[in-house]
Amino acid sequence: KEYTASQDRYQTMQYRRCGKSGIMLPLISLGLWHNFGHQDDFENARNILRTAFNNGITHFDLANNYGPPYGSAEENFGKIFKEDFKNYRDELIISTKAGWDMWPGPYGNFGSRKYLIASLDQSLKRMGLEYVDIFYHHRPDPDTPLEETMRALDHIVRQGKALYVGISQYSAEDTALAADILKSLGTPFLIHQPRYNMMDRWVENGLLDTLEQVGVGSIVFSPLQQGILTYKYLNGIPKDSRAATEGSYLNESQITPQIIKQVKELNEIAQKRNQSLAQMAVAWLLKDSRVTSVLVGVSKVSQLEDNVASLKNLDFSEDELKKIEEILKS
Ligand code: NDP
Repeated sequence: KEYTASQDRYQTMQYRRCGKSGIMLPLISLGLWHNFGHQDDFENARNILRTAFNNGITHFDLANNYGPPYGSAEENFGKIFKEDFKNYRDELIISTKAGWDMWPGPYGNFGSRKYLIASLDQSLKRMGLEYVDIFYHHRPDPDTPLEETMRALDHIVRQGKALYVGISQYSAEDTALAADILKSLGTPFLIHQPRYNMMDRWVENGLLDTLEQVGVGSIVFSPLQQGILTYKYLNGIPKDSRAATEGSYLNESQITPQIIKQVKELNEIAQKRNQSLAQMAVAWLLKDSRVTSVLVGVSKVSQLEDNVASLKNLDFSEDELKKIEEILKS
């Protein structure tokens, strides 16, 4: 059935400025790492994207190798974009990345100019787009000079193939160096994409401070620790969950009794706040204004609706925050 976006799509979502830039991002954005490959249900993927946009989620995040197989999330997104979202292109922020393994041989991985420029050309073809809004270097490359990688990002912007650039998983130190180079080149460095959630706190150790200093925003990935920070593993491992899915980056062995004990206690605090645990985990990240957007993944429309409703309660009392810290340290 043909798609017309909801008239109310900008009624409830809130938007936050991304660093010192002209771009506002929705507090919740949607990532296509899982559930959008050729192995996944296409109609489900389409419904997730439609629901997202209907709720004011204007930002979709991809990468060259999302699938499986590699490239297939971009291909499926391209199909759905053409059928459903073409008329809304100027209402959307679409990102993709290169930096991890993509094609065989020495030029399909890491951070060379050769890799980044060729990869974005491939991504644009798969998605049927003329440009992306944000192009990221997906992870730091210890062996390629940072100058080369940043100059490649600059070139891509000058080619008109990306409007802004970003980096992902870079340390605070490398982020400051990258910011210097990009500034000297005049490249619009919009955003950093790190992992951040209640259980993984490394960004609090310098990265968020650096981003604030250089005026760059952040969009945080795996905010629910890939699903651990929800009710779903409280009574075992559901068959349709990511932890039960072969080839995913979440294994049953990561869901230890110790983790489940913490999740149960966190869940009790969430219930007292009249929220699901997923909602509390999203809200908890948004309490820091340096977090521009929380980048969720979902396997079902209902999960997305659950996450979007986080916005109904974004406030925490000192007491709640203290209790949460005690649980996470226990
Ligand atoms: P999350 O931590 O949000 O985990 C998503 C998973 O959690 C879902 O697939 C689902 O699992 C479960 N889930 C989500 N919402 C709910 C809910 N309300 N109730 C119950 N379960 C829920 O994020 P991801 O790890 O998926 O990462 C999000 C995005 O971040 C990616 O799509 C990608 O765009 C980006 N990313 C970037 C990386 C980088 O290096 N830059 C690395 C990793 C991710 P289930 O499938 O079990 O139902």
